[in-house]
Amino acid sequence: MVANPERAVRCPVCVTARPDRRWTRPTLPSTVLSCRSCGLTWCDPLPVDDSPSSSASAVSTDEGFTASMVNATTRRDAAVQALVEARHAWYAEDLGRTEFRLLEVGCGNARLAEPYRALGVDYVGVDLDPRPVAVAVERGVRGLLVGDLLEMPLQGPFDVIFASQVLEHSTRPRAFVERMAELLAPGGVAHVDVPNHDGLAGWPSLALGAIGPRHGGVIWPHHALAYRTETLERLFSPRFDVATFAVTPDHAVFGQGVASDRRHWLYYRLSGLLGAESLAVAYGKLPN
Ligand SMILES: [Zn+2]
Repeated sequence: MVANPERAVRCPVCVTARPDRRWTRPTLPSTVLSCRSCGLTWCDPLPVDDSPSSSASAVSTDEGFTASMVNATTRRDAAVQALVEARHAWYAEDLGRTEFRLLEVGCGNARLAEPYRALGVDYVGVDLDPRPVAVAVERGVRGLLVGDLLEMPLQGPFDVIFASQVLEHSTRPRAFVERMAELLAPGGVAHVDVPNHDGLAGWPSLALGAIGPRHGGVIWPHHALAYRTETLERLFSPRFDVATFAVTPDHAVFGQGVASDRRHWLYYRLSGLLGAESLAVAYGKLPN
């Protein structure tokens, strides 16, 4: 038996049967496919390994990033505190109350747990990888779970489900969004951010076809699926009233709680001027 070079590969987001564009580069072990219908760009085949941060439905996280979470200092982080306070106010206005249940998918070392709990939020964190979770447990954080969102039993409903830099690792994005909808209460909020395929950092590699393991938002092997805002719109709109947009990592509500130096600050402003911010966000409400 030989592989059929014309085999139909379905887009993981919109299920279009044939991708419109494909790239093959010696520096990229997989073919990179792009869907003109929804804008998703992804690797075929998707990478597999046996890292503790991977699962049957998730591509592993870079070990260097995991190490940075495991070795993070426990000092109070003013940028994270400010982010959680601003975001809490945002969710509270949408939900009509200040106390609610929040599930963070891909919580890592759960640096958001303590500031949320101090504000009266019932915070639950889940992560595939037991290593960063162990760091949080050692810090005294309770109520964290290790497992795969698509496989594990979870006691819903939640009022907010948040996942930062997680969806781009999921090999089953439609099932991921369906599971969020299933676990949310009516009127609940789904809030997701991913690396933006149209972000400024990916422009050189897009212009040249690929640089090293990078092609726009695809960075082999860990970021094997790359989203645009319109891709998120396509993914979430069947179940949610969703807004999608791009922001810089220092955004007060939808950023990443980073304390930026002068160089980063300038880069973020430049990416904003060019409409090429690095985070693509989906903020959806489940209909009542
Ligand atoms: Zn598609």
